[in-house]
Amino acid sequence: MTITNPATEKVVKEITADTPTIIKEKYEKLKIGQKEWQKVSLEKRIACIVKFGELVKENIDELALLLTTEMGKPISQAYGEIKGAHGRIDFFSQHAHQWLSEEWLVKEGGTKEKLAFEPLGVIANISAWNYPYNVGYNVFLAALICGNAVLYKPSEYTALTGLKFRELLWKAGIPENVFECVLGTADAGKILLELPLNGYFFTGSYNTGKSIAQAVAHKLVPVQLELGGKDPLYVADDVVDVTKVAASAAEGAFYNTGQSCCAVERIYVHENIYDQFVEEFLKEVKSYKMGDPTQKDVFIGPLTRFQQIDVLNDQVKDAVSKGAKIVLGGKKAEMKGYYYEPTVLVNVNHTMSVMHDESFGPIIGIQKVKNDEEALALMQDTEYGLTAAVYSSNYDRAQNLMEKLDSGTVYWNCCDRVSVNLPWSGRKHSGLGSTLSYLGIRAFVKPKAYHLRG
Ligand code: NAD
Repeated sequence: MTITNPATEKVVKEITADTPTIIKEKYEKLKIGQKEWQKVSLEKRIACIVKFGELVKENIDELALLLTTEMGKPISQAYGEIKGAHGRIDFFSQHAHQWLSEEWLVKEGGTKEKLAFEPLGVIANISAWNYPYNVGYNVFLAALICGNAVLYKPSEYTALTGLKFRELLWKAGIPENVFECVLGTADAGKILLELPLNGYFFTGSYNTGKSIAQAVAHKLVPVQLELGGKDPLYVADDVVDVTKVAASAAEGAFYNTGQSCCAVERIYVHENIYDQFVEEFLKEVKSYKMGDPTQKDVFIGPLTRFQQIDVLNDQVKDAVSKGAKIVLGGKKAEMKGYYYEPTVLVNVNHTMSVMHDESFGPIIGIQKVKNDEEALALMQDTEYGLTAAVYSSNYDRAQNLMEKLDSGTVYWNCCDRVSVNLPWSGRKHSGLGSTLSYLGIRAFVKPKAYHLRG
């Protein structure tokens, strides 16, 4: 496997992908290790994760630079992700006892009843590259705390970060036969689907997620899918500060170079403030510095995958052919690296791919709407259901829309946000199941009901 720096197009490292035999050996090793790991006390398991967090903090400079080098994330955002992800460690370590302890439902009488939670066993964590810390921790840290062993398949675009996770987890006391990395592309992922694992936890695109769910359905083991989105944002005409709202929406659309699962992917603005919003939005986006992602003041880096340049070009071409106007960008930047100019399209509508299909890049369409009803109908016109945001100075007005939106997450006056306290879950083509919150701990255990007479 060749790891390429998307900013320089230079090879960072060559690593060897695992063969099917090696992947099977790793699985056999973990099958033995898991049996011992589940006997280790919860305190000790938590202590290992806390130690891992300390080691990440100690090595943050090296880790942030590695993330920037292999996937092109601007360095300040790489630090932001690594520091932000630490909140998951605090959260899991503070709450795991509460959600994993056995519960007595009936304590008195002839038949007592108790609920206990047991680990699933050896699970696969097939992961994406865009936020390897956030989406990785959501699964492998929670799974380890619960007593599972984890075969972690990092994305081929962040394999070196994946190997660092392994190194630091082992150093923190997680046994080598409890956490392993599976290195490779889709082919390595497919081998995992053939093994008799006890759960599949996937983060990535809808198409891959669907094929994984189909391939493992016959096993009747838990399958969780955290997939893509086409997340809408609506700006009502009663917002107090259009400049501030435009800045917030622009950040939601362009942070991580638009490569966030919950990035703002389409914007609807009430006609009364549309022109002012577009003007302020453009001002904000023009202030973003694009370039060498190792520079602290760079906000837009290269795309991680060069193939995405064609996807964005096709969306622009399709939109323009149907009447859209490019008011900013619209093409690959003329510089070395997989850079795409921050792109803003107006006069857009729902016949255009840019308003329907996940863009996953620095591109956004802004559509004018007459009223809240039209905004709601357009926001709902999607196969996805990850997040949706409403900006309004009136909570009741926003709530009226939020309760009708078929999304796992809804936002009032904010966007592109994840909280450890709340479940992270997609609806429709955005996924199945939840990570984070207490639901995201319980996802990695199975209940056992005790009926006790004696
Ligand atoms: P992807 O589907 O291309 O790949 C994800 C992982 O699956 C990689 O490790 C890849 O090697 C592996 N894989 C690919 N084909 C496979 C197969 N047939 N069998 C088994 N494994 C296979 O996705 P990506 O490009 O890494 O990630 C981008 C996508 O992830 C976007 O759609 C984004 O919205 C989504 N995402 C969602 C969330 C969320 O929390 N909902 C978070 C991050 C990213």
